[in-house]
Amino acid sequence: MEYDHILIRYGEMALKGKNIKKFIIRLQENVQQKLKAFPNVKVKRTQGRMFIILNGSDPVPIIEKCKDIFGIQSLSLAIKVENEPEAVKEAALYALKNSEEVKKFKVTVKRINKDFPIRSQEFNQILGGHLLSNTAGYTVDVHQPDLEIKVEIRNEATYITSSVVKGLGGLPVGTSGKSLLLLSGGIDSPVAGYLAMKRGVQLEAIHFHSPPFTSDRAKQKVLDLAKQLTRFGGSIKVHIVPFTKLQQEVFKSIPDGYAMTIMRRMMMRISERVCEQESILSMTTGENLGQVASQTMESMNTINEVTNYPVIRPLVTMDKSDIIHISQQIGTYETSILPYEDCCTIFVPKAPKTKPKREKANYYESTKDYTALIEEAVSGIETVKVTAETTMEPTFEDLF
Ligand code: ATP
Ligand code: MG
Repeated sequence: MEYDHILIRYGEMALKGKNIKKFIIRLQENVQQKLKAFPNVKVKRTQGRMFIILNGSDPVPIIEKCKDIFGIQSLSLAIKVENEPEAVKEAALYALKNSEEVKKFKVTVKRINKDFPIRSQEFNQILGGHLLSNTAGYTVDVHQPDLEIKVEIRNEATYITSSVVKGLGGLPVGTSGKSLLLLSGGIDSPVAGYLAMKRGVQLEAIHFHSPPFTSDRAKQKVLDLAKQLTRFGGSIKVHIVPFTKLQQEVFKSIPDGYAMTIMRRMMMRISERVCEQESILSMTTGENLGQVASQTMESMNTINEVTNYPVIRPLVTMDKSDIIHISQQIGTYETSILPYEDCCTIFVPKAPKTKPKREKANYYESTKDYTALIEEAVSGIETVKVTAETTMEPTFEDLF
């Protein structure tokens, strides 16, 4: 006897009415993709349930991987047995004996298959009694158990599950379309990307790079951050924009107070071009109200003027400490705080306007034609496909 299945629960998606089928299929694909390195496992759907069939693979690393998949509410190890009372008893006993730090347990039987000869309530008692008489030191506690052993008698088989591992929640990546993440090397934008993915958004990323003012290491840092994000949503295309000439021109010809605002407007214009090319319908940024001069309400209003694409700002109302907390949890923090300069930290105007006006921004931009510089930046874009890590589990053949 051993755990041969992992049960996947996908809570929120049950609310999605007609779309449910699409969501579940996408979740199944995402799980399959994530578990590519485990050649023996199979991911199956039955009505209202998703299972990973282990076929002898160690469940521990598989559960670890599944903890990074959006759309999974929770997971449990499961044993599949025939719809036979004796087999169910044996499996329940195995589940109890193989759990740690449990003193009080309860058994919950759910009989979906009404052909099964014993009613739920009665079978509950039979199983409880069986467990107590074959073990020592346990008590039954239906109100505050350390462990709930769930027995689900379905048409095809009975599944016995015990401890529940929490999943990430959210929606499966790919079910809410694509967004272009403006990815700097800072703390915020990777967190913004993560939160967008949590709502089912698939990401591409764009980064504005200003060599030689920003180094190759600064660029590599952004690619590293993108790589870390692939853990949650698979491969990410990163578009790297050569921004030096345009940025220098902006800082040369625009009054100091507006240079930052106009540089951001240029970023939005170029991002919109990439969205058009890639059929992406929105942008995502790490903007947050009130952090710095470029992130006041007036500033957002003036920057946003140049695009009518929706701009998703998952962090807009969050506290910095909460953002940092998420970045530590998702593993981007250590990379984000590396000191390599960003194009925005190099060209910092001495006194950026905290309340830039649309009319003034438009006026300053009209003093020079930036079209050719924007075109040049767009045509110089280098696109790198950052793929998710898949370290293969050694197969039997590899070992001999
Ligand atoms: P972050 O921590 O994400 O760098 P920030 O707090 O430094 O953000 P800003 O410098 O005002 O804030 O940048 C606001 C947003 O603009 C960033 O979150 C990011 O989405 C985008 N952005 C800034 N610089 C770049 C860049 N060089 N390439 C791509 N996007 C950028
Ligand atoms: Mg920054």
